[in-house]
Amino acid sequence: MITVVQLVAQAVAAGLTLDADDRGALVIRGPATAGPLAEALVTREAAVGRTLDVVNGRAPVLDWKDARSAPRRSRCVLCGNPAALLCPYEPTPTAMHKTCAEAFLLRARRKGRSA
Ligand SMILES: [Zn+2]
Repeated sequence: MITVVQLVAQAVAAGLTLDADDRGALVIRGPATAGPLAEALVTREAAVGRTLDVVNGRAPVLDWKDARSAPRRSRCVLCGNPAALLCPYEPTPTAMHKTCAEAFLLRARRKGRSA
């Protein structure tokens, strides 16, 4: 299953803009061709919401203060190297580096802007 970080990165790279309204509800704008991506984002709205400050440039880093330790010999799903933490945004235990997640989102943001 695709991770929230990967899903958000795909959406941004596809030209979708993501943000939250005054009540914290996810607001998605962009091309109708990205409809399936938008639907997938809505099903994981709470986790997607936790990435928005980085996606929109309001925060330089993700908030991982509640990340838990990964089992021994876990590997980051984004780079494949050994990882000590589980991504706190995933409903199932998913080992990931915080720096990989941040780099993934920032790269997608740059792609989305140039598209
Ligand atoms: Zn990594």
